[in-house]
Amino acid sequence: MGNTEEKYVKQAFDTNWVAPLGPNVDSFEVAIKDYVGSGVHAAALSSGTAAIHLALEILGVSAGDEVLCQSFTFSASANPIMYLGATPIFVDSESETWNISPELLEKAIKERIKLGKKPKAIVAVHLYGMPYNVKEIARISNEYDIPVVEDSAEALGSSVDGVKCSSFGAIGILSFNGNKIITTSGGGALVSKKKEYKDQSVFLATQARDNAPHYQHSHVGYNYRMSNILAGIGRGQMEVLDDRVNARRANFELYDDNLKGIDGIELLYEPEGYFSNRWLSCILTPSFEVREKIREFLLEHNIESRPLWKPMHMQPIFEGYPSYTNGTSEDFFERGLCLPSGSNLDSKDVLRVIELIKTVL
Ligand SMILES: *Cc1c(COP(=O)(O)O)cnc(C)c1O
Repeated sequence: MGNTEEKYVKQAFDTNWVAPLGPNVDSFEVAIKDYVGSGVHAAALSSGTAAIHLALEILGVSAGDEVLCQSFTFSASANPIMYLGATPIFVDSESETWNISPELLEKAIKERIKLGKKPKAIVAVHLYGMPYNVKEIARISNEYDIPVVEDSAEALGSSVDGVKCSSFGAIGILSFNGNKIITTSGGGALVSKKKEYKDQSVFLATQARDNAPHYQHSHVGYNYRMSNILAGIGRGQMEVLDDRVNARRANFELYDDNLKGIDGIELLYEPEGYFSNRWLSCILTPSFEVREKIREFLLEHNIESRPLWKPMHMQPIFEGYPSYTNGTSEDFFERGLCLPSGSNLDSKDVLRVIELIKTVL
């Protein structure tokens, strides 16, 4: 936490705004909107997963539809496709950004159309804070007229050519879960340049109440709004967001300075114009065996590290669905490791991790 979260939470108590609406929710939304820029509107919700669910529903996804989804991601990118009774079609990654491959995406779209079903949406993810290939994905989205849900859960503070992530897709989503770069303990946001999408998301997130003096409903609604207490935490966290980004980028730089080129260790670099919040610092090792040796050796020293995300097309729950793969994410999953990356690590901590990794190598 920074210094002002408690002040905003106390304001909520002092004014008795203990509800899923109130001044903190309004101010938090303004803070997100101002930070992201590009004329977006923001709706504060109960989670990033809820935001993806509403985004897909607002874009017209319903039972029986197909939705293209980056395979190399956390399961929350794909689960809302299932909530809606739609079919996920998984697309593998490119090595430049580790995110959805434009080439495979276009191939998948062409093939699905040939098979008689045009996908309703594309879920693209800025994994670990590194932006996906925003130019190519936007071109494909425009050319085939398929909207993008931009999963920016891990990428608040990241940008391409100075344009912030979550403003590129038809709808962007953010997460304020406890593990993200800033947190409200749990929470999320839906972000869009279209005000009607924000308004629709707030309507659906508050039980879809029609405009009448009594309770009247002509849509199925959800209870997905953010509480005014948690939005108070969010207001305080927005004030330290850039500090958190700087701290995480400093972690990455220290890892990079000390590990690059050593015994086949690879790091992910920013393409020209790209800026990553470096939510997690990750490395690729030469092999699964080396990866496991490093992970286990760190664990023996009471340091947690984790394999990269297991691709969705390899997950027991999703492996039966169509996928367009090229081996990239499977290779990353085998060889890759997320290193300690917290904003509160100091350089001594990071150097200790580096020394242990070097010992294994
Ligand atoms: C965390 C995360 C989500 C989900 O956000 P929650 O707020 O935890 O529901 C979605 N996608 C990705 C890539 C994430 O890392």
